[in-house]
Amino acid sequence: MKHALLIVDYQYDFVSPEGNLYVPGAETKLEHITGLISKFKQENNLVIASKDWHPADHYSFAEWGNHCEQNKQGASLMINETDVDHIILKGQNKNIESYSAFFDEKGNSNGLDELLKKLNVNELTIVGVATDICVANTVSSAIKAGYIVHLDLDGCAGFSNSITFQ
Ligand SMILES: [Zn+2]
Repeated sequence: MKHALLIVDYQYDFVSPEGNLYVPGAETKLEHITGLISKFKQENNLVIASKDWHPADHYSFAEWGNHCEQNKQGASLMINETDVDHIILKGQNKNIESYSAFFDEKGNSNGLDELLKKLNVNELTIVGVATDICVANTVSSAIKAGYIVHLDLDGCAGFSNSITFQ
């Protein structure tokens, strides 16, 4: 069985201080995440990234403002995309939010669980943004789906520090 690094939504709009939905401190996690990518690649393990990937009129923009629009700079990864083995797109349905990389809020799969099973992955190290929203929801989904989960907070940044994991 394999171990995969899952990088959640490490995209321009969340990570760059110039982004539309900047998560404070997100850009300072780049070095740690890049180190993890190198380590996973050296060990012949997998690197998977999720992208918030919204159509132009996505309903969540009413709450969060415009962010991570498909094919725009705001949706681009802040890690080297050529280092990523697989990309999972989330939030593509304009009427449904998808905080978790696994499933949207109506329970529709984003394809991650199927991909991991196909690749014989049973263990995940999870990093990314935002800790309290998409990372927390992704961790919760992964545990419920039966994966061995390591949440690496050195590679995470959040809007709120009120949620912590031990
Ligand atoms: Zn979004």
